[in-house]
Amino acid sequence: MSNVETDPQETVCTDAPDDGAGAAAAVEVLEPRDVPLGGPRAMTVRRTLPQRQRSMIGAWCFADHYGPDDVSATGGMDVPPHPHTGLQTVSWLFTGEVEHRDSLGTHCLVRPGELNLMTGGFGIAHSEVSTPGTTTLHGAQLWVALPQAHLDAPRQFQHHVPEAVRVEGATLRVFLGTLAGQASPVETFTPLLGAELVLDPGATVTLDVDPGFEHGILADSPGVAVEGTPVARAALAFLPTGRSALRLANDGDEPARALLLGGLPFEEEVVMWWNFVGRRHEDIVAAREAWMAHSERFGEVEGYEGPVQHLPAPVIPGVRIRPRSNASRGPRGS
Ligand code: MN
Repeated sequence: MSNVETDPQETVCTDAPDDGAGAAAAVEVLEPRDVPLGGPRAMTVRRTLPQRQRSMIGAWCFADHYGPDDVSATGGMDVPPHPHTGLQTVSWLFTGEVEHRDSLGTHCLVRPGELNLMTGGFGIAHSEVSTPGTTTLHGAQLWVALPQAHLDAPRQFQHHVPEAVRVEGATLRVFLGTLAGQASPVETFTPLLGAELVLDPGATVTLDVDPGFEHGILADSPGVAVEGTPVARAALAFLPTGRSALRLANDGDEPARALLLGGLPFEEEVVMWWNFVGRRHEDIVAAREAWMAHSERFGEVEGYEGPVQHLPAPVIPGVRIRPRSNASRGPRGS
C-alpha cells in the first residue's frame, strides 16, 4: 500500500557495523507506532520499521502491520494510484483480499498466504483496493530496499504461493529465501529471508538460520516469545548477526502467528521519503517531480475506479533530515 501520511518525514537509514557483541546481544523489541492512513474512517496501521531505534533489518526497510479490521467500520483499503522507486513491496495477507493494479498492466488479487512482490526500481505506480467480499482485513505491508546496483531495476511483478510445510511445533510458509530446507524460487537483489510461521499452542521451535543475517520477528498473535523474551502483538523483535539458530515459543493456548524477516546487513545509506527510496535527497526530489508531472517514469494505472486517479505527493520538507544510524541498538549499546 501507499505511505499516505500527509507529512512524511525524510528518513536516512544507515547500517552501522556490528560491534562484535552480536552473539551475546539481548533481543531488542521494537515497539510499533500507530499511523492513521488518512480519511475519517480510515484504517490505522502499526509501524515498526523504520523507527528511531532501528531503520532496517537486512534490506527490509518498512514494516506495517494492520488488522484484523472490520471493513464495515473502517471502509477497508482503497489506495489510489501512487508511485514507488528504489524498492520492492511485499503484500502479505492473513485475512481478506486486495485487488492490485499497476503500471505494468498487472491486475490481480492479493490473497492470504501468497507472495506478491512488486519491483519499483526506476519507477512504478499501483493501486490497492480491498474487494467487496472482504469483511476482515488483516496483514502486513513490507518494503525491501534495492541495492545501488539495482536501484533503477525495471518494473516487475512476481507472484508465488509457498507450500505450507510442517516442522516440529510449527507450520511455515517461506516466501523469500530459505528456511528449514524450504527455498523460495523468487530471486532477490540482496540475500533475504521472509517466512510466515504459525506456532502450535505451547510449542518451542528452534530454527537454523544464516549467522550472517540479522533477523526480525513480527508477532501477529499474543504469546510469542523470542529467545525467552516476550514479543507483544505487532511488535518486532530484532536479533543482530551472529546467531545460527532462533528459538521461538508460543506461550498461549491458541496457535500463534509471526513473520520472520532476515537479511545480510544493508551497508548502503538509504533515504526514504513518502513512497520513494533513494540514496540522496536529490533522488527523492527528482522522483517527486517526475510523479507530479505524470512522467513515463511511473506510467499509468488502468482500471482503478475512484475519484483520485493520481495520488498527489506531499510537499517535501524544506530542510534535509540529518542522517541517523542503526548504531543505537537499545540495551546492547550501553
Ligand atoms: Mn504502494
